[in-house]
Amino acid sequence: MILPGFGTEAQDRLRASCALVVGCGALGCAAIDLLARAGVGRLVLVDRDVVEPTNLQRQSLYVDADARAGAPKAEAAARRVKAIDPALRAEPCVEHVSAENAAELVGDCDVVVDGLDNYRTRYLLNDAAVSLGKAFVHAGAVAFRGTSMPVLAGVAGAAGLARADAPCLRCVFPDVPPPGEGETCDTAGVFGPVVAAVGAQAAAQAIKLLAGRIDLVDRALWSIDMAGNRVARVPLAGAGRADCACCGARRFEFLGAQVADRCAVLCGRNAVQVLPPAPVAIDLAALRDRLASIGAFDVRDGMLVGEVPGAMSLAVFADGRAIVRGTVDPVAARAAYDRFVGA
Ligand SMILES: [Zn+2]
Repeated sequence: MILPGFGTEAQDRLRASCALVVGCGALGCAAIDLLARAGVGRLVLVDRDVVEPTNLQRQSLYVDADARAGAPKAEAAARRVKAIDPALRAEPCVEHVSAENAAELVGDCDVVVDGLDNYRTRYLLNDAAVSLGKAFVHAGAVAFRGTSMPVLAGVAGAAGLARADAPCLRCVFPDVPPPGEGETCDTAGVFGPVVAAVGAQAAAQAIKLLAGRIDLVDRALWSIDMAGNRVARVPLAGAGRADCACCGARRFEFLGAQVADRCAVLCGRNAVQVLPPAPVAIDLAALRDRLASIGAFDVRDGMLVGEVPGAMSLAVFADGRAIVRGTVDPVAARAAYDRFVGA
């Protein structure tokens, strides 16, 4: 409260505000910890994955017991945040963010923070934020490098910013990098300190926005390289493009897209995520009983887990989504899903 600009009024705004953090990996953990301790009243924490031992090198909200239990990240992050501040409302959401649920999640918050490891979902959030008039803070990191950028295109009018000075993500990066191009945490690794720095830069912009101090936001594409030991800042003034598909033409291509591919190889792990062909609600206890002849399955933390033939393991969530471990072959994962969960 002693800090200039963050007195009583700003503190009241923070307490009444809601941040949606999509992706509770390394970047998400860094940002969530700062948002919680800054007094943001409500945090909606979204992640589709579970904690694994190799995450602990950089994902600062989790401990060994979370990894041993294979706890869903969103649940473990919410537990940690409530341990920091029992008065904070932390809402875990163990879901895959898609065109079907993005608008609902984004519409319910004041700012969206990017903790993602894939571009397609990032562009989907960019679409949702611009179309629904929300602020979005982009963040990304791989190897020793990371970037962050506030997307104020959705709130430019309300904030008195010129459209040209409030670009969206697609004004700056028009297209999603094609699969197989560019590094991922799978191929290049991630340096722990770089995600702390990028997560802090993103959290700083989110806290300023939620406190009603958009005037203090760093309106720049900010980047850091901890191998070359460089920090760069490219101002975003004038970067908004009238011909941008998203904020210019208001064609929300990612928000309007159908889920084309039901399988995704998970970054950094020997695992594939498989989505159900249509929205479903699975009775996990009944499925456990059906799978009893195959092996011992457990229902815990909202998912069914167990080993399946072919040296693979299966984690099934109530929304029909599954993570198949022990393979990076989408066909084998799909086959296991269809065989044991049912298509
Ligand atoms: Zn744009």
